[in-house]
Amino acid sequence: MPDNNQIADAFSLLSKLMDIHGENAFKAKSYAAAAFNIEKLPVQLSEIDPAKISSYKGIGDSAAKKVIEILQTGELKALTELIEKTPPGVIEMLSIKGIGPKKISTIWKEMGIESVGELLYACEENRLTLFKGFGEKTQASVKESIEFFFKNKDIHLYADVEAYALAIDKNLKEHFTADQFELTGEFKRQMEIIHLLEWVTTASATDVETLFTKNNFELTEKESAFLTVKGPENILLKFHFTTIDAFGSTLFQTSASEDFLQAWGTVDKVSNEELLFVQKGIAFIPSCLREEFTTDIIPDLIQPSSIKGIIHSHSNWSDGGTTIEAMAKHAQENGYEYLVISDHSKSAFYANGLSVERIGEQHRYIDELNNKLKDFRIFKSIEADILNDGSLDYEDDVLAKFDLVIASVHSNLKMSEDKAMMRVLNAIENPYTTILGHMTGRLLLSRNGYPLDHKKIIDACVANSVVIELNAHPRRLDIDWRWIDYAVKKGALISIDPDAHALSGYDDIRYGVLAAQKGRLTADKNLSSFSLNEFEDYIMEVRRDKGI
Ligand SMILES: [Zn+2]
Ligand SMILES: [Zn+2]
Repeated sequence: MPDNNQIADAFSLLSKLMDIHGENAFKAKSYAAAAFNIEKLPVQLSEIDPAKISSYKGIGDSAAKKVIEILQTGELKALTELIEKTPPGVIEMLSIKGIGPKKISTIWKEMGIESVGELLYACEENRLTLFKGFGEKTQASVKESIEFFFKNKDIHLYADVEAYALAIDKNLKEHFTADQFELTGEFKRQMEIIHLLEWVTTASATDVETLFTKNNFELTEKESAFLTVKGPENILLKFHFTTIDAFGSTLFQTSASEDFLQAWGTVDKVSNEELLFVQKGIAFIPSCLREEFTTDIIPDLIQPSSIKGIIHSHSNWSDGGTTIEAMAKHAQENGYEYLVISDHSKSAFYANGLSVERIGEQHRYIDELNNKLKDFRIFKSIEADILNDGSLDYEDDVLAKFDLVIASVHSNLKMSEDKAMMRVLNAIENPYTTILGHMTGRLLLSRNGYPLDHKKIIDACVANSVVIELNAHPRRLDIDWRWIDYAVKKGALISIDPDAHALSGYDDIRYGVLAAQKGRLTADKNLSSFSLNEFEDYIMEVRRDKGI
């Protein structure tokens, strides 16, 4: 039999969902009141005469009928129906502090956002402030509560645990001066998603346990070879215990995929993992490449320092927070040679996309800035929406005005593979498309990408001289690194792009590079590693080849 709390919860959710769906506000309010009053009742509703339920304060006739329905059937049909009509991610938003049902309704129905992760991404792109009732303050507080919400989940983005991992690592090394500690596992392998942080150590299990439990960490598992602890940050830490003479082999065995280890065979006890490669007579394979075993070495794996230009950046002309001038200055100060400004296009109304008139204004402004800049160039670009039929949302004469065009899907992401393929292939075949932006539209831990036949898309990009973006935002990292090797072997050019919406967005480039390393990318196959001259030549050449 449901108790009062369960009944009150059902009423409370019913009231909120009615508000989200814009149903009778008066009724919704009365159910919220009923929930409030039921929770306070001194008696259990299941123990009283059904005929008397409506005589209790704050429970009207309509609510009383629903209480009886719950007690008799164990279900509230009106609620079940509303739940079925609401994406689970939208219901999950109810647990985010700072947004009530009315705001959630706008977020879902007007912004088309259906999960908490997408909502966080929208905050990062300044999307919320463009809607009525959402000020900068609301956006900031929503962002903060979502970050808190994600902290309480068990799976994390690499970027979200990085600072924590490094801080713990530093503390351990300072505390245990006589012992060895080294980060291993998913973190060492530069995985985009982290389930737990792992270390290999020569310290004793007792000492490690004591240090953490003394600092309010909870011991969650303990075996002879390892132990795990969890602190208030809710990230699982695992320690593998080993000896000095087996440190290298333990590190090796904990920093490679299972497939890799299986292909490798037996691992001898060594103090330094490099010895294992010497024994095998092969070049050292860094842990970021220990996925599928191959002796095919990549001598010049891409590095963060290999990036020479900022490609794909928004400004305050669309949904970015900063002027083009400041974005350019920041890029130049950080050693980059050029900046590709690609604000949103006109159909991205939610992101203040550029009308044809405003494109003209922006181009005049960029010309002025370029006249002032020395040894640096701002390129005129646009992140053109790929429309439902796969066309880009400007006429050719407008597209021709840009130095280069990034084509991306931003709307109607729920598509069958056929539809998605038609849309993306059409965009790739458009001669004005220079770069295919965030290929699948995925948001890690939040939204699956639309289904694509990766091989066909990559082949089409190669055939049409379209560069494939590796969007470096740590929640995107799209194209997935697992496809980069294939793409490069087919002759594709990748571009690690920050998709920056603020100056700090440039810092994301590093996450793109970490993922690209896993995909065995080298600088010569990455467009954003081209020098200013090489980049200018490249875009001219492609335009000439395509006859535009
Ligand atoms: Zn985009
Ligand atoms: Zn963008």
